[in-house]
Amino acid sequence: MSKGIEHVHCAIIGSGPAGYTAAVYAARANMNPVLFTGPEPGGQLMITTEVENYPGYADGVKGPDMMNDFRKQAARFNTDIRGEMITKVDFSGPVHKIWNEAGDELHADAIIISTGASAKWLGLESEQKLLNMGVSACAVCDGFFYRGKDVAVVGGGDTAAEEALYLSKLCPKVHLLVRRDEMRASKIMQDRVLKAENIEVHWNTETQEILGEEEVVGVRVINNKTNEVSEISVDGFFVAIGHKPNTDIFKGWLDMEDTGYLITTPGRTHTNVEGVFASGDAQDNIYRQAVTAAGTGCMAALDAERYLTEKGII
Ligand code: NAP
Repeated sequence: MSKGIEHVHCAIIGSGPAGYTAAVYAARANMNPVLFTGPEPGGQLMITTEVENYPGYADGVKGPDMMNDFRKQAARFNTDIRGEMITKVDFSGPVHKIWNEAGDELHADAIIISTGASAKWLGLESEQKLLNMGVSACAVCDGFFYRGKDVAVVGGGDTAAEEALYLSKLCPKVHLLVRRDEMRASKIMQDRVLKAENIEVHWNTETQEILGEEEVVGVRVINNKTNEVSEISVDGFFVAIGHKPNTDIFKGWLDMEDTGYLITTPGRTHTNVEGVFASGDAQDNIYRQAVTAAGTGCMAALDAERYLTEKGII
């Protein structure tokens, strides 16, 4: 006998601060949410060391510990947390269909998307080896630990400019590694970078290797015009070559920017599909903070609750 298709009021896809916050609100509103953790339970916070800017943690907290707290809070209100990944959706009808990697189909009256974004990496072995041991993709999260130390930032866009400027207030010297002879960043950000006395821009410069065994001690770079190889001594290496929102499975169903960020009604969490709401970094390429993700997760659950109530579903 074939298993019937499961039908739930509210499915939450993703398990970062947005997803778990949405779960707390949805569960407390009797929406019986089912939360799919996805391939990286806890999201980007799981690869962050100390979090010192999340309100309520007066002494700071480790990223994974914080996400464990989020998870426990969602579970406390009986969120059905499943370690599964949603790989396919069909938003063509009033009931939204989703499938996990095993091919199981589930129907939901409301969907909250909180699939987050992933930092892009250079793809070097040393980068993964030294992740959280001097290699970071978030200056706002980790910059504080490099106070008084020299660091390098790789990238030439607004994110890299922003990260370099942020770090330049904490660090004596910031080396900005730009692979071309110009930056992609907006003019105003470039001007700020070029005016900062302690930011040295290395043009036409590519990273060959991040140096160090237990911690970052430097970076070996190559000038792609002259082929000259050199080493720069740094304690921190920040990769700022962009983020990619995890929204591929929604292509063709939901409106998104060319970069993949989901488009929501300004100030709300509604997508172009009725009953589908988006929260967190999947729809935010500006703030990208744990606390803002949690805020939009709350908003998405409230919007979903209102939607289900108006439809007479709950
Ligand atoms: P981005 O604009 O795509 O820039 C990525 C940068 O990283 C480019 O300079 C690129 O070089 C470089 N890069 C990519 N792969 C690389 C590699 N393997 N090795 C070395 N360098 C590499 O990404 P973003 O800076 O994250 O910005 C994304 C969007 O968010 C943009 O629209 C940006 O304006 C916006 N944003 C705005 C603000 C703000 O307004 N304050 C802040 C952050 C982001 P190439 O130029 O050679 O391709």
